[in-house]
Amino acid sequence: MTSTSQIGHYIAGQVTAPANETTQPVFNPATGKQTGKVSLATKQTVDLAVAAAKAAFPAWSNMPPIRRARLMNNFLGLVRANKDKIARAITLEHGKVFTDAQGEVERGIDIIEFSCGIPQLLKGDYTEQVSTGMDNWTTRQALGVVAGITPFNFPVMVPMWMFPVAIASGNTFILKPSPTDPSASLLYADLIKEAGFPDGVFNVVQGDKVAVDALLENDDVEAVSFVGSTPIANYIYETGAHHGKRVQALGGAKNHMLVMPDADMDKTADALIGAAYGSAGERCMAISVALMVGDAADKLMPVLQERAASLKVKNGLEPDAEMGPIVSASARDRIESYIQSGVDEGAELLVDGRGHFVEGHEDGFFLGGTLFDNVTSDMTIYKEEIFGPVLACLRISSFSEGLKLINDHEFGNGVSIFTRDGNVAREFGKQVQVGMVGVNVPIPVPMAWHGFGGWKKSLFGDMHAYGEEGVRFYTKQKSIMQRWPESISEGAEFDMPVAK
Ligand code: NAD
Repeated sequence: MTSTSQIGHYIAGQVTAPANETTQPVFNPATGKQTGKVSLATKQTVDLAVAAAKAAFPAWSNMPPIRRARLMNNFLGLVRANKDKIARAITLEHGKVFTDAQGEVERGIDIIEFSCGIPQLLKGDYTEQVSTGMDNWTTRQALGVVAGITPFNFPVMVPMWMFPVAIASGNTFILKPSPTDPSASLLYADLIKEAGFPDGVFNVVQGDKVAVDALLENDDVEAVSFVGSTPIANYIYETGAHHGKRVQALGGAKNHMLVMPDADMDKTADALIGAAYGSAGERCMAISVALMVGDAADKLMPVLQERAASLKVKNGLEPDAEMGPIVSASARDRIESYIQSGVDEGAELLVDGRGHFVEGHEDGFFLGGTLFDNVTSDMTIYKEEIFGPVLACLRISSFSEGLKLINDHEFGNGVSIFTRDGNVAREFGKQVQVGMVGVNVPIPVPMAWHGFGGWKKSLFGDMHAYGEEGVRFYTKQKSIMQRWPESISEGAEFDMPVAK
């Protein structure tokens, strides 16, 4: 790809890049070089995509679920076969290390597999003889055209939380990916076509706020799924609801790990290093705060300091890389300013990732792992989402102090406890006000059939992504009561119908 290669939209089975649209540069964050430019959809382009999806809906939603599942199964095989190609595209625009990108594709594949079971998932409830000669059943029917707006940090997995479930359920779909790493979306659009899905069932519009607003304001879009930062999630939720749409909007995070003094400290150190610095901390389930109870900090901090300082931070395509670059120069600058605020507000900076130098990659957007000790809950680096490789450690005296800190925090996406005490873990699971909980598991991303979603300001809306809640989000329930003519021969009934 050259710096002038244009990454366009995918509408009604065709890639298009209208000449009148503006573009945004796309970079390889490891080299800092522009590698392409992405089209930014106008309202007209979005309306075209919605029209294509609307035209495809009647035939698609009428296709028997088993046949939709077979197409999904074709897609599953193609994504598997192209896994490394897709993973490479992720690394080239996002920066995360290649094995991590492979893992991202694999977690997307999980949802495609789940969606292959759509006939079973759409099976309704039936009651025979709710009244004499009358039966009642419920079905779930597709909504129509639905849209997904997704963040930069998982350009494959997060769209796959949405579109396989949505289209298997009988909807047609418009994806609006992040313009920061848009190329992967066209790779899987291509595989959707190869799998045999009719044109218009899956569409991609590249773009920014203009495209998002055009989707939110279009009356033919029935539902919007969003994943991204909390202020935008809130905006999408309010604006989508204002326009009468069903909305699920997943927002930002500040995930804590509560380390009890009885935890296995070697395993806890491994878990913290991986969960804080994997994908350069640019994961909504990354651990960015460690709450260390009692003497846990005295045992852990020296190990964490040594390991954070020696992370292999390099081009994510290099086989031994443990952490790649930050996604963009502006994101790196924002993270650096958070590091400075931690210093200014009195936290103890044990490892400073600023100014990280990678030979041969002098213009890359690199930052090393950063570690703070003696952070307090009034500091900006504790309160706000940094979304980078910065771990803030707080020394606390008890389980209940840790639980209160977690429950008082405005975010409630993921959380983890490390302990050997089953009762402590059980109480934690019961009392913690967070949507996804790990016990000796640092990143508890639920499997495809369990559904993903946080609490508090980490999710606006009622339903989590994928799993059975995903199917419910993309379908509406219809109840049918039915009887046949011989039983309605007694004439009109004016009283409230009761069982007879
Ligand atoms: P972002 O909120 O900046 O962007 C997300 C999407 O919204 C993109 O498609 C973007 O183009 C669009 N967008 C941005 N500004 C907009 C505006 N003003 N109006 C309308 N649309 C707009 O998020 P990001 O930086 O791409 O991703 C990082 C964020 O996503 C972090 O906050 C992270 O925690 C969050 N995230 C959350 C989850 C989750 O499951 N809760 C998962 C992944 C990422």
